[in-house]
Parts: sequence; structure tokens; C-alpha cells
Amino acid sequence: MQVWKFGGTSVGKPERMHSIRQLLVDDSSRKIVVLSALSGSTNALIAIGEAAKANETDSAFEQLEALRKHYDAFLEELYTTEAGLEKGKKVVESEFGYIRSLIGIRPFAPKHEKELVAEGELLSTKMFQAYLSEQGDSSVLFPALEFMRIDADGEPEMLEIETRLTAMLEQHADKKIIVTQGFICRNPREEVDNLKRGGSDYTASLIGGAIRAEEIQIWTDIDGMHNNDPRIVKRTFPIRELTFEEAAELAYFGAKILHPSTITPAKLRHVPVRLKNTMQPEAPGTLIANQSSDREIKAIAAKDNITAIYIHSTRMLNAYGFLRRVFEIFEKYKTPVDMITTSEVSVSVTIDNDTNLEAITAELREFADLEEHDRDQNIICIVGNFSADKEGIAMKVLDAMKNIPIRMISYGASEHNLSLLIHSKYKAEALNVLNERLFFYEDAMKDIFTAP
Ligand code: ADP
Ligand code: ASP
Ligand code: MG
Repeated sequence: MQVWKFGGTSVGKPERMHSIRQLLVDDSSRKIVVLSALSGSTNALIAIGEAAKANETDSAFEQLEALRKHYDAFLEELYTTEAGLEKGKKVVESEFGYIRSLIGIRPFAPKHEKELVAEGELLSTKMFQAYLSEQGDSSVLFPALEFMRIDADGEPEMLEIETRLTAMLEQHADKKIIVTQGFICRNPREEVDNLKRGGSDYTASLIGGAIRAEEIQIWTDIDGMHNNDPRIVKRTFPIRELTFEEAAELAYFGAKILHPSTITPAKLRHVPVRLKNTMQPEAPGTLIANQSSDREIKAIAAKDNITAIYIHSTRMLNAYGFLRRVFEIFEKYKTPVDMITTSEVSVSVTIDNDTNLEAITAELREFADLEEHDRDQNIICIVGNFSADKEGIAMKVLDAMKNIPIRMISYGASEHNLSLLIHSKYKAEALNVLNERLFFYEDAMKDIFTAP
């Protein structure tokens, strides 16, 4: 079996849904199809939730009406028969009715907000599966809320997901296309929850890992993972092959094409992940697997909204136990540390979640001196095959960055990552200069020296 995931832009127009159906029927293998909400819907639902939370009920209903118009127009073009259209209208009426009832609830709690946001994926999948039925395709809808579970820390309950999904697949062994929602899940309180923004990629990978799929395909609006952020850098190109490790570093350190946790479940079960372009299905995309071609420097990504904390031990040199005490505090506040650099008496760390920054720094001050922390920092992550016996990689990177102030450098933690911490005002410049120097400079030099 395969798992195919289609993102917001891939389902964002009726004709795109038509193309997806064509892709599905043209391919003979049995599949689980994970869908995101129509593009823009999750943002719209979040805004409606914000208005409800702020008691701005009229504004919430106004925004809901605008969204409803979008869906009504969508239905008219999606279905090809009266009966199909009627079914689609029933789906939309029922889901919007539920949203309306949520908007009125007071107090409007976080759990209501999550139920509201979940409607995006519930709508897209129900509308799409009704369309498959209308066209006479063998399909079934698996409600993600019946098998996708997270624990109290927001981590997926892998075993539970596997057990539930396997049973559901056995029950529907005759169905070729199984449609389900990305992003949404249930938490241990049985409430509707989600896997954070962009979480449909993670759903696909969790499903692919759970059923030991042959392959996971992530269909989006670009022809695979590019060597740099195409929103910021002009001359980028798709990478044909990446290892799980390289892709995981890129996703974690900011390549928006993949949710940061996507690679973990696939890697665990050795399920290859292929990134494909819905607008250009014949393009090869990117294959993420155990092996890849061994180009030295593969890609660059940037992670935003980083805070750097600078900690100095107040105890004498050679004191042991200092790092343990530091990290216990981050553990206590469930705050992951991204980058670390150390000297004999100092350690600097970065975090991307500063919810508990005040409490963390207060506890650190009990046994350490802290310099003023820096917000608005950026981690630039260079990913590739940097085995320990390769020379010159750090030199190339640092040479490219020679005009940009660097706050921290991390190299050698894995054979795939070199990270630099800079102020976010230098992000675009850093990505562009690294792009030119690491991917195009040598070719340009070769041309100059071989020119007649
Ligand atoms: P979807 O809605 O299908 O989940 P996303 O918007 O989440 O799509 O991800 C695709 C977008 O990610 C692309 O349109 C592109 O602008 C952006 N992106 C950022 N970094 C990269 C990268 N390194 N390679 C490819 N796309 C990237
Ligand atoms: N719809 C959700 C979001 O916009 C999940 C996803 O698209 O992956 O974040
Ligand atoms: Mg996405």
C-alpha cells in the first residue's frame, strides 16, 4: 500500500480535486489518501476562532459567511451530477452548522478552538470522498479522529495508531481508495486536537510508518525539496535524492515544504518518502530514503523566531554537573534546545519556543550568570554529507558568510549539519550569499578558467 498526501493548494480548487482523482484512478495500487484543508481555510477558521474568543460574535459570523460563499461556489464546480451536488451541499451544510454552534459557546475554550480548526480537514475530505463516490470509484472515508491519537505531551501514540488503523483496513479490505484527514487527532482527554500547523505531512508519515507502506508521497505545489528557500532565494533547484537524516535536518530547521517531524516515523520503518508536484505530476520530485547521491553540500534552510540564551557558570573551572543542571531546567519546562555551543565556563543555547523563557532564566540565575538573551535570531542550517574526513566544508561556508556577523556555530554533531546563528535581519542576505557561493561559485570559476 501507499500513502499519498495532498496539501492545501493541491485541493484548493475544484479542478485540482479533479486532477487528484485522475492521478488516483490512473494508479493501480491501493492507497490511503491524506488531505489538508482547502488552502486558506485553516487560516480563516483560526481567525473565526480568535473573534469568538474575543466575544466578537458578529465578526465571527461575518467571516463564516464569507467562507461559506467560497465553499458553495466550490461545490458547483466539483460535482458533475445533481445527485453528487446534493450530497456535497449536505456535507457543507452540516459542517457549517456545527461551526455556527461552536461560535456561540461561552466561554470559548481552547478545545472549542481546536474543534473549529478541525473543520477544514473534515470539509475537504468529506467533499472529496463524496466526489469519488459520485464518479463511481471504490472508496471509503476513515475518520482520523478514530485512529490518530496523541499523548499528554502531544507525541503520537504509535502503537495505538497502528492497532486501530490495521483493524479498519481489514474491515474495508475491498476498498481501493481510503480518504482521511491530515492534521487532526484526539488527545488523552478524548478532545479534538491537532499536530500543529502543516501537520498533514506528519499524519501521512505516521500512517505510512504504522502500516509499513511501500512509499509515502507528499504532493504539493513545487517539484520537490529545493536546495534553498524558493520564497527568498531566486536561483534554487530541486534535489533529486536525500537521505532520511538530511531531509529530517532540513524539515526541522525550517524547510516549509515538510512539517518538522515528518521524517521520523518514515525513517523508523524505512518507508521511502517522495515529494511530488501536483501541478506537474511527471516531474521526478525528491526521493527521501536510506541512500542518496553523495553531493557534498545538499541544501540550506532557515529557522525563524529563535532566542539565544548565554549562560556562564559561577563555579570554578572544571566543575562537573553544570550542564546537567542547565538541561534539567529546559526539560522541566518541556522546552527543546536547538543549538548548543560550549566553552570551559560558558554555554550558549537556542530555543524556538519562548513561552517559559522568564521561568527558565529565573531558575538558571540560581546557579549561573546570564547575559541578556537575544530574541529575533535565525538558525541557518547547511545540510549535506560532511563525513569527518572531508576537508574544506566549514571554510567554504564561513568564507561565504564573511560579511555577516555570526553569533554561534555548530558543526560535528552529525555528519549532515552545519548550523549558524545570526540576527534575523541578515537572513535573506545569508541565504542568498550561501546559495551563490556553495552551489554556483565553483561552476562559474570553472567556466572562467576553461574559457578559450
Ligand atoms: P502544502 O500546502 O502542500 O502542505 P506548503 O506551503 O506547506 O504546501 O509547502 C510548500 C511550499 O514550501 C512551497 O510552495 C515553497 O514555497 C515552500 N518551501 C520552503 N522551503 C522550501 C524548500 N527548501 N524546497 C521546496 N519548497 C520550499
Ligand atoms: N490545514 C493545516 C494547516 O494549514 C494542516 C496542513 O495543511 O498540513 O496548517
Ligand atoms: Mg504544508
